[in-house]
Parts: sequence; C-alpha cells; structure tokens
Amino acid sequence: MPRLAENGLKEKCGVFGIYAPGKDVGQMTYMGLFALQHRGQESAGIAITDGRTVVLEKDRGLVAEVFTPQRMERLHGNLAIGHVLYGKTDTQSNVESAQPLAVTSRRGSLALAHNGQITNAAILRAELSERGYLFRTDSDIEVIASLIAQSEAPDLNSALIHTLKRLTGAYALVVLTPDRVIGIRDPHGIRPLSLGRIDGGYVLASETCAFDTIGAEFVRPVKPGELVSIGPDGICSQPFAQGKKAVCTFEYIYFARPDSLIEGVGVHGARRRAGRILAAEHPVKADMVISVPDSGRSAALGYAEAAGIPLDAGLIKNRYVGRTFIHPTQKKREFAVQLKLSPLREVLAGKNVVMVDDSIVRGTTCGRLVRLLKKAGVKGVHVRIASPPVISPCFYGIDTPDSKELVASRLSIENIRQNIGADSLGFLSIEGLKQAVGLPGEPYCMACFSGKYPAGRPKGEGEEE
Ligand code: SF4
Repeated sequence: MPRLAENGLKEKCGVFGIYAPGKDVGQMTYMGLFALQHRGQESAGIAITDGRTVVLEKDRGLVAEVFTPQRMERLHGNLAIGHVLYGKTDTQSNVESAQPLAVTSRRGSLALAHNGQITNAAILRAELSERGYLFRTDSDIEVIASLIAQSEAPDLNSALIHTLKRLTGAYALVVLTPDRVIGIRDPHGIRPLSLGRIDGGYVLASETCAFDTIGAEFVRPVKPGELVSIGPDGICSQPFAQGKKAVCTFEYIYFARPDSLIEGVGVHGARRRAGRILAAEHPVKADMVISVPDSGRSAALGYAEAAGIPLDAGLIKNRYVGRTFIHPTQKKREFAVQLKLSPLREVLAGKNVVMVDDSIVRGTTCGRLVRLLKKAGVKGVHVRIASPPVISPCFYGIDTPDSKELVASRLSIENIRQNIGADSLGFLSIEGLKQAVGLPGEPYCMACFSGKYPAGRPKGEGEEE
C-alpha cells in the first residue's frame, strides 16, 4: 500500500542495483523496487542487460502496475538498476522523467538513476544548453547524463569522476553499463545507499529492506564520496571526493522503513530510542500513549516504555487509502487524513492521552487529529513529536513546503500548541535526536531543524553556490 504523505514531506526516490553472474535478475529488481515503493509512487523503471544491449522499461504508476507480466517478459539479464520516483512537478510526473534514463554515447550504452537533488543543476543546465544540448526533462539525472556524455575524458570511469566533481548537493546514484553496475554517494553521504551481497554477486539499494526482500545480506553503507564499481573482476572502490559526512536524519524519523538499516543503524531502534528520550525530555501524566500510524509507532513504543504508561491503539488506519490522495493540494491532503485515520472511541473516551507523531511540518494534520480525538471524548491530548521543529526547507532530495508553510518557522512552540488545540506539546531536542540515532562523531544533516546546510543551498535560495 503506498504511503500517504500526510505530514507534507515526501521522499523523492529510491534506487536499486544488482550484479549477479549466472542469475536472471529481472524479478529480483522488481522485488527490490517493491520493497522501496514507500520512497516514490509516481513512476517506476528498470534497466537491465545481458551484456549486449541495455533494455529499459519504465512508466508512471506503482511498481506492481508498471511491471506487467508482458513487461517482465522483456526484462532478462544478470545486471540491472531500478528506480521509484516521487515527482514534485507535473513535468516530473511525465513518463520521460521516470528513471532510469538511458543514454547512448561514444562510450556505449548507459542507464542511470538517482535519489537526491543537485543544488547547482540550474547552473549546469544553463551551461549545457548554451553548448547546444536540448533537454527533454527538468530532471537532475538528465543533467548528470549529459555531462557524462559530453565529457572529453578517455573512458567511462574518468568521465564519471569528472562529472561528479562538478556536482554539488545530495545524490545516491546507480549506473548500468553492459558489464558493470556502479553505485555512487555524494561527498557528504546525505542520501542513503547501502551495499549487499547475494550468491556471488552484489546489490545496491537506498534501504536495506530491499536486500531482505531478495535474500541478500547487508555488507556496509557506500561511503560518502565513494564510487563502487561491480563487474566481472569483482568489486572496486574508488574515493572521488572528501566532505564532512552529513547523513539525513529524517530518514530515521520518517522516510525509511522501520526494518531498514540506514548507515548500519536500525530505523526502528532509532525511533524507539527517540521516543524514550522524548519521554525524559517532556514527561506528562496520562492514562495511555497512542501513536499516529504508521511512522509514529516505534517512537510511541519507546515513549510508553520509558514513561511507564500503557501503549494502546487509539487511531485506526484505513489501509485502502491509496495513491489517489497523494496530492500536493491542501484540500485533498486534509480530506485524505479524514479518510485515513479514525479514533477508537471505546479506548479513548474520558482519558488523558499522549499522542506521539514523527514530525510536525505544516501542523494541519496534527490539529485535525487533536480535534478528532477530542470529538471522540478524549479529556486531554498531549502531543509529543519525535523530532525537533522543522524550520527550514530541504534542498537535498526531500520535497518540503516553502519556509512560510512550515509552522515552526512562523510560530513559537506555545503558539503551535494553541494552533493545534493540544493540552501540551513537546518536541524532541536536536541533542536528543543525535543521541537516538547514535552514529559515532555525529555525522548528521539537520538542516531542516537548524537551517545549516552541509552541502550549501541552490543559487537564489539564500546562499550563493
Ligand atoms: S534538510 Fe532535513 S530532510 Fe533534507 S537531507 Fe537534511 S535532514 Fe534530511
């Protein structure tokens, strides 16, 4: 079931790559993408090769809709990459913008797919246009592909490195050639990419849940600024740039599946620890803890454990609210919330309740839920948020509303509380979030909570490149 992005943040993409000699990997790529479906529901694509030609199938729709038995019939080979996309704009929702993107250059056939956002894409695009390149889409991947195709470098590897050195921002990139699968992570490692092993071959994926689905074993995260090239000669790792590591903390809070490891850290565990820390930072007397399903669940469990308050099911999710309601208008989003969650009156009536959610972005969903609970007879609603207040937009591959739509950039916490109608409101601190994730050396991107952007902002967004 595709996820309704009701909090106003949407992951833009998920990537997958596999090299498995002697195996037909079409079905495995399909399953990998199926596991990554929550990262993008607008379109899906697979590029595959048997060593001779690269075959590409992509379209708008969910993985199961795009890859009909007829399409799967055409997808045979032992190397493949795949992609699921959430398109922000109408043009990005066109099939042309679906990934992978296939290109034919003097270095042969290539297919590429990425997750992230190139912050200097507009500058590179203008430069390429001036040199006569005609863009068919407004996607960053076309900019990357045309830089590779136009590079004067003597071989593909050098063309890739030359191109990567020109990019700023966040990217996890997978590349397919007739005999190699290549995985690349930006110098800060903002977007996730992990390496796995399967039967004498290797797998790359945005999240490790894709490894579990195909029976692959997690090896390690791809390092920031690392190019991993997998081919007949095995695996080769090449560092191409150095930057301060800054892993997206929102992966742990909301985007990633709870059964995934991001940077080797279990997402469920990080959310549960966030809930425990939240309970210590914002204690309250209450009869029960409830979660906003699904992403508030692990944090609610942690909160209940640490506070010694029973956890109960207070909000029931309609599992059949689907993609129709993933829509960028406020009206449809609000309608979707109403359809999606309903209160369990027999559990809630007359009680003081702690409602744990992963984040507050616009604040409208949270206010609607508080009203829903009060209407169901709840005496007091104490809202606890397992992340710090979101005050700045993301420029690294997550579709966030403009600053003016982020409620915490406009209002104080007390004003947000009044606005959503809660009896009390508490957010996890930035320190608490770091502790919950627990990576050594605190290598985090926290830009949406702090306004400090580890890889800069696009030109015209408050800071020059
Ligand atoms: S700004 Fe926020 S959502 Fe974007 S990469 Fe950084 S932590 Fe993640």
